[in-house]
Amino acid sequence: MAGSSRVPVSLRNFASAKTAAVRKSPHLVFNLDLMRNIVFAYFILRHFRRAVRKLRGRGVFGTLFDGYAYMRRYAYGLFLNAPGVRGKVQAQVDEALKKLENKLVPKGPGVTRYLALPKEGFTETQAKEELKQLSEMEHTSWESGHVSGAVYHGGDELLNLQSEAYRMFSVSNPLHPDVFPGVRKMEAEIVAMVLAMFNAPSTAGGITTSGGTESILMACLSARTKAYVERGVSEPEMIVPVTAHAAFDKAGHYFGITVHHVAVDPVTLKVDLKAVNRLVNYNTVLIVGSAPNFPHGIIDDISGLSKIALRRRIPLHVDACLGSFLVPFLEKAGFPTTSFDFRIKGVTSISCDTHKYGFAPKGNSVLLFRTKKLRAYGYFITATWPGGVYASPTLAGSRAGSLIAGTWVSLMTQGENGYTASCRDIVGAAKTIESGIREKLSPDLYVLGEPMVSVVAFSSKTINIYEVADEMSTLGWHLNALQDPPAIHIACTKPTVSATGKFLEDLEKAVKEVKLRGEKSGASKAVAGDTTTLYGVAGSLPNKSVINSMAIGFVDTLYKA
Ligand SMILES: *Cc1c(COP(=O)(O)O)cnc(C)c1O
Repeated sequence: MAGSSRVPVSLRNFASAKTAAVRKSPHLVFNLDLMRNIVFAYFILRHFRRAVRKLRGRGVFGTLFDGYAYMRRYAYGLFLNAPGVRGKVQAQVDEALKKLENKLVPKGPGVTRYLALPKEGFTETQAKEELKQLSEMEHTSWESGHVSGAVYHGGDELLNLQSEAYRMFSVSNPLHPDVFPGVRKMEAEIVAMVLAMFNAPSTAGGITTSGGTESILMACLSARTKAYVERGVSEPEMIVPVTAHAAFDKAGHYFGITVHHVAVDPVTLKVDLKAVNRLVNYNTVLIVGSAPNFPHGIIDDISGLSKIALRRRIPLHVDACLGSFLVPFLEKAGFPTTSFDFRIKGVTSISCDTHKYGFAPKGNSVLLFRTKKLRAYGYFITATWPGGVYASPTLAGSRAGSLIAGTWVSLMTQGENGYTASCRDIVGAAKTIESGIREKLSPDLYVLGEPMVSVVAFSSKTINIYEVADEMSTLGWHLNALQDPPAIHIACTKPTVSATGKFLEDLEKAVKEVKLRGEKSGASKAVAGDTTTLYGVAGSLPNKSVINSMAIGFVDTLYKA
């Protein structure tokens, strides 16, 4: 008795009322059933609506194909996990990672590894000596233009000036504008200059970020917030060309946005507009186009995407991270161009990497918004933190004022004429490579689409293109391997400009070598290089879990001291 009397009155009432209701009141039973039915109907409706959206977005064949691909992935996953198979796969992954570690992490008697703070700190001379050795470790020669992309370098004079700017502002932090007013002024001016380059209206605004990825993350975040605040969208989706940068998938992963990848036209390699239009639904928060994309250097039909975006009232982001300080200068440099900026009405945001062809120090990018309201959707604000009212525009808290100073001097010293000249040189180099491949290396190699900017992607119908990549790598070139379809590309930079002749010469040699090897059949397997191995395997797997565990191992290796 004492025990039951300790049960709170409200609960006792609830318990007895419930049993009483079940026994005595048909009215209440009916209500419970009704509620259950409503919940069930809601559940069915939700899934039904999802299925309808999927059918409408991907079509009957697309949906069936997706289902088939899913089953294949699943079955292959089961196979990989089967006893006997699993151990063998793991052994091969381990072996590949061991090879990678031997290549990336120097060991041996000549190498001193610092695994704890030195007891007594280095002298200045010691520190400088170590730094010198570190910068001279054996590496692929970007200095001679043998690396695709990666080093977006504006010349030694600019490098010195950037270092000076760095030193002058090395303690500064834009989080404290009252302490560092000069940094605030420079950051605002960088944004203003880039807005002007992309023909933004007076209503527009922008932010600077740590790089293209952060710019893209912020563009997706503000689009998601806009849809949530203005339309209550809680299951956000975005429509992204397959060729768009992986940072959009990262945004989807971080912010819980479903990413619909849209195929590109097999000939033009521009995103399929009809497929984009079909995928738009109530949950769509953003449509994306690239100007140009990373894999093939192709500019999507931004005007076409804009028409869809305007008609369906969805924001449109243009990723000009790579196009950065080249696309806005194509016309002035005398090259064909196409529309991609704010002059197209549907474009609501643009990302532009100052740290690519703007030649700014690594760690700076700009994100532009058509309206300040859209920009504010990305802000983070808390008014209740015991540490004070806190507001910041991007993912970072503290940021490097030194990078802003380095970026500002880059923009100011290059100027319009400087960027027009570098556009002429770099895009000119890409055109030389493109026509060289078309004229001298056809029919063995062909160029993908009609590249307009700095990237030239090419493939082959007669030989294995990955073997060409490996052959180029033995000749000292570091090119990018692409998949779906298999291809490789070179992204031209300032250092590449003087190396185009050598590139075409070596490419011809590489093609000859691969063809020769193909004729001596059977030999090619024995000498398969890294690219051929990785992408040969990756391309044939329906389920990428092996590649995923390799990639985890790769990132782990980066942190082996
Ligand atoms: C480089 C690049 C980005 C962003 O890359 P970060 O490495 O984060 O600066 C985004 N889009 C395209 C097309 C790019 O080439």
